Amino acid sequence: MAIDRIITADDPEEHSEEAQIESTLRPQDFASYTGQKRLKQNLGLSIQAAKQRGEPIDHVLLYGPPGLGKTTMAHVIGNEMGVTVRVTSGPAIERAGDLASMLTNLAENDILFIDEIHRLHRSVEEVLYSAMEDFKLDIMVGKGPSAKSLRLDLPKFTVIGATTRAGNLSGPLRDRFGMVHRLEFYTHDEMEEILHRAAGILGISLESLSARKIAERARATPRIANRLLKRVRDYSQIHGSDGPISETEALQALGMLEIDHMGLDPSDRELLRAIIENYQGGPVGIDTIAALTSEERTTIEDFNEPYLMQIGFIERTPRGRKVTPKAYKHMDIVPPKRREQSELL
Ligand code: ADP
Repeated sequence: MAIDRIITADDPEEHSEEAQIESTLRPQDFASYTGQKRLKQNLGLSIQAAKQRGEPIDHVLLYGPPGLGKTTMAHVIGNEMGVTVRVTSGPAIERAGDLASMLTNLAENDILFIDEIHRLHRSVEEVLYSAMEDFKLDIMVGKGPSAKSLRLDLPKFTVIGATTRAGNLSGPLRDRFGMVHRLEFYTHDEMEEILHRAAGILGISLESLSARKIAERARATPRIANRLLKRVRDYSQIHGSDGPISETEALQALGMLEIDHMGLDPSDRELLRAIIENYQGGPVGIDTIAALTSEERTTIEDFNEPYLMQIGFIERTPRGRKVTPKAYKHMDIVPPKRREQSELL
């Protein structure tokens, strides 16, 4: 659905126009990277110390929902260290040999950024263990009885892994990261700052109230803020006046996208409604929710759920997901009487 493409935080396809715009909007250094204060402090210290010693920084694992700035941070680290960042992803490395050729092409202190690292093939992962731990590459040469195992030296390098699901990473892989950091959702003020910066780069003139409205509706996620900004610009170009984009224009554009004042889109509302109408608000298992809403389980887990939990609309319990009273209020539905009460009657 067109709407889903705008507001889900999926990675834009490579080479698409959006991917190009994303890279133009990417902050290049700590100073222009808004928010994530704790992460920046910790990394800043490690970078300073590593530079003093003339060594690469320890391997870093960044996790959190899509669109929060993991890839961007990997590039920022590269710039701050003054080294090259080679980019790949878990599913793109099909064989151990692919990884081997990537590793042997690295220069001293380079960064290898592996997006979706939880999707690495097991055989590739095993090669990565010794590469990360000892900077050695163990490869098999030849086949059958004459096969030999070779151990090659690699340059000292850093792996930055990014994942939306740290829980899916195998224990041994996770243990090889010296730093493991979760990216946080952004505050409205931070989102506003990100929007003003992006508007400046794209040459879009925004009234500050319209920036605020977009910021509040962008699910605390920079990628979504940037997307909404472009849609608002399109709307204003056709329907608006010549001046800066006004609050009314911004709200009208967001209304057309069916995004409400909390940033929920039709798929979030359908999810909440499905739990409320079919399971009296839950608890209900994720697979049942996926079946009820005809959504992929992974889309719900990676996209809908983290934000709905962040704003306190659903809770995770051992027996499944539950809709909170706050979400009932937002959906304008009266919560059922608590089961125990109705049983007493
Ligand atoms: P992830 O890798 O977590 O999915 P990205 O790093 O690709 O997310 O970020 C998506 C877009 O959001 C980037 O193109 C960038 O423009 C913007 N962005 C992300 N984090 C920030 C930030 N802290 N400050 C400003 N813009 C950001």
